[in-house]
Amino acid sequence: MFATRLSNVTKYVGAHVSIVGGIQNAITNSLFIGGNAFAIFLRNQRRWIAPPLDPKNIEAFRENCLQHNYASKFILPHGSYLINLGNPDQEKREKSYQAFLEDLQRCELLGLTLYNFHPGSTVGNCSKEQSIQHIATCINRAHKETSSVTCVIENMAGAGNIVGSRFEELADIISQVDDKSRVGVCIDTCHAFAAGYDLRTSKAYEKTMEEFSRLIGFQYLRGMHLNDSETELGSFRDRHANIGKGYLGLEAFRLIMNDDRLNEIPLILETPIGPDESSDYYKEIKLLYGLVGKESNCNNVKAHITEKNKEKRKSKKSKKSKNTDGEFNK
Ligand SMILES: [Zn+2]
Ligand SMILES: [Zn+2]
Repeated sequence: MFATRLSNVTKYVGAHVSIVGGIQNAITNSLFIGGNAFAIFLRNQRRWIAPPLDPKNIEAFRENCLQHNYASKFILPHGSYLINLGNPDQEKREKSYQAFLEDLQRCELLGLTLYNFHPGSTVGNCSKEQSIQHIATCINRAHKETSSVTCVIENMAGAGNIVGSRFEELADIISQVDDKSRVGVCIDTCHAFAAGYDLRTSKAYEKTMEEFSRLIGFQYLRGMHLNDSETELGSFRDRHANIGKGYLGLEAFRLIMNDDRLNEIPLILETPIGPDESSDYYKEIKLLYGLVGKESNCNNVKAHITEKNKEKRKSKKSKKSKNTDGEFNK
């Protein structure tokens, strides 16, 4: 049975769903959890070479989206983890660029208008500025070789060689992109928190959002990944936790669900899931929608926070984190 999808919403919550058995199955998988938005991989994200999409599946994907009312602006495909457009090695960067371009072409075949990817890394062999320049050059080149898809750059958790954990770095990439109508950003809450952007109280949340607005601008925000964090503020580690069960806590997500600046964009869960993916995501989507219109001191929120703290105390030592972006198998 499909879950009930809330209608007349301004927040489009969904999850990263599986494409096993064909890309058209993403829609059914999203319907099972009551998602109003969804994310997918466009192919096996761990291999360079992927067989082309079957035209029958492309057709079915488009039909399913239309039939079930998933507009392309609420579908946020995620690029391959192998792609590093910031690699200073020309040959390796070209390999990444070809995979990037192929992903973008897949989006256009599927009628998708957004493509979310990780900016890249210096791999320790060049400056961040040089890496950023390479990334922007690749985006400019891809814009010329495609017609409509928007490149959506994700903020990162990691420091060191990783590009994009600071809003300034995302802004620097955008500033070097010629066609600014086809570039955007996706903010992952876990990554932001790990990179030192606090979201836990309304004061901290406003400070982070103000910084985002000043450095990048909400006009570039095309989507968000809603993940709690298994590690503390500024840990620079990418460990997703279930909503309200990590260091971010439910209040951060209550603030998000009541922030009008985040209306009409896909809000995608990439949280750890058990063997029954559909019931886990279903519960989290319901939980998030339940926060709409709630006051900070309402019992609902408090109850969850208390429960979370209790759980955390109990499981602090024994719990091993189970999910990172890199282990996100679909
Ligand atoms: Zn990602
Ligand atoms: Zn992540």
